[in-house]
Amino acid sequence: MSVWDDVIGQPTAVERLGRAARGAAATTGGDLAPTGMTHAWLITGPPGSGRSTAAKAFAAALQCPRPEVGCGECHECRTALSGAHPDVTLVTTEHVQLRLDDVRPLVTMAQQRPSLGRWRVIVIEDADRLNDNSGNLLLKAIEEPPPRTVWLLCAPSPEDVLVTIRSRCRHVGLRVPPVADVAALLVRRHGVDPAIAAFAARAAGSHVGLARRLAVDEGARIRRREVLKLPEQITSVGAAVLAAGQLVEVASEEAKAATSERDATEKAALLHSLGAEGQGTMPPAVRAQLRLLEENQKRRATRAQRDVLDRSMVDVLSLYRDVLVIQLGAQVELVNAELADTLERLAASWSPEDTLRRMDAIGLARERIAANVAPLLAVEALMVELRPGRRR
Ligand SMILES: [Zn+2]
Repeated sequence: MSVWDDVIGQPTAVERLGRAARGAAATTGGDLAPTGMTHAWLITGPPGSGRSTAAKAFAAALQCPRPEVGCGECHECRTALSGAHPDVTLVTTEHVQLRLDDVRPLVTMAQQRPSLGRWRVIVIEDADRLNDNSGNLLLKAIEEPPPRTVWLLCAPSPEDVLVTIRSRCRHVGLRVPPVADVAALLVRRHGVDPAIAAFAARAAGSHVGLARRLAVDEGARIRRREVLKLPEQITSVGAAVLAAGQLVEVASEEAKAATSERDATEKAALLHSLGAEGQGTMPPAVRAQLRLLEENQKRRATRAQRDVLDRSMVDVLSLYRDVLVIQLGAQVELVNAELADTLERLAASWSPEDTLRRMDAIGLARERIAANVAPLLAVEALMVELRPGRRR
C-alpha cells in the first residue's frame, strides 16, 4: 500500500513526485536544489485525470515520517489524504474566480511554520481561476517561500495559469489515464462489478470522477441513456426546444439533489454557531449572515447545474464521435458500443461533414455555458442544430 495507489495511469508523474518527496525527507531545510524538491509545483492534466488526487498524494508523502516515504498507512499519510492534516490545506472554490480575499489568508498561512508535520503544504485545486490581482499576490508569496512551505497548484494546462506564476513552478503533467486502469480502480476501491466498471470507464472517457459516478449510481446511468436518445428524438424545432427544456430541468434536479443535503447541514451549523437555533424571529445580524450563506449556496447550485449539463453534452459528443468513427471506418473502439444500431443508423443518414458540424455545435454550446450564457438558451440553440434532418 502507498499514497500513490489512487494516482492511476501516471507512472512518470508518480516517479518524479515520489523522488522529490524522498529528497525532501532527506533534508532538514535550507537549500533544496540538490534534493529534487522545490517550493512550488504546478500539476496539470485534463479534467478527471486526477490532478487533485496526485497533489494530495504528494502532500501526504511529504508529511510521512516512515522510511518508505508515503506509506499510506501511518497517521500522517491518512490524515493528509483525507484532508484532516493540520499542515495540509486544500483550497477549492465554488466561484468562477479565486479572488484577492480568497488568496490573502493563504499567503498569511504560508508564512507560518508547520505545526506538526514536516512541511506546510497548500494545495490550490483551481489555480486556473486566479485573476490578475489574486495571481499577483500569490506570485509574491511563491517568490519568497519560507523554508518549510510548499505550494501545489493544479490546473488543466500550464497555459491556464499566469505565465509569471508558471515560470516559478516545477511542472508535472498528467495524461488521460488508460480505460483499463480506471476500470481496475473502480473494482478495487468501490467493489464495482468488472463489466460495469469497464463500461463506466469507457463511457466517461477515462474521467475518474465521472466513471465512479456512472459505476455506483444507477440514476446517472439512466440519465446518460436518456441523454443519448436525444439525437434521434429531435426531429423538429418543437421537439428540439422540448428536449432542451428537459435536459436543463434534469440537470437542475440532479444538481439540487447533490447540493441540498449539504446546504441544510451548513445552514444548521451556521445557526448553531450564532446561537440562533430554533428561534422564531431572527435578529438582523443573523439574517444577514444567513443571506450571505444562501447566496453562496445558490451560486454553488448554479455551478453544479452547469457541470451536470456539461457532462450531458460530453455524453452526446461521445455519440457523434462514434458516428464519425463508423463513417470514416476508423479502427478504434466505440465509446457507446451498446448503441451500435443507433450509431449505424445515424452514420448512414448524413455525411461526416454533418457529424463534424454537430460536434462543433456542441463545443460552442459548452463554451457559451461556461461563459455564463443562460443554459436554456444555449441548449435550445444546440438542439436545433442537432436535428437529424438538419443540413448545412
Ligand atoms: Zn506514511
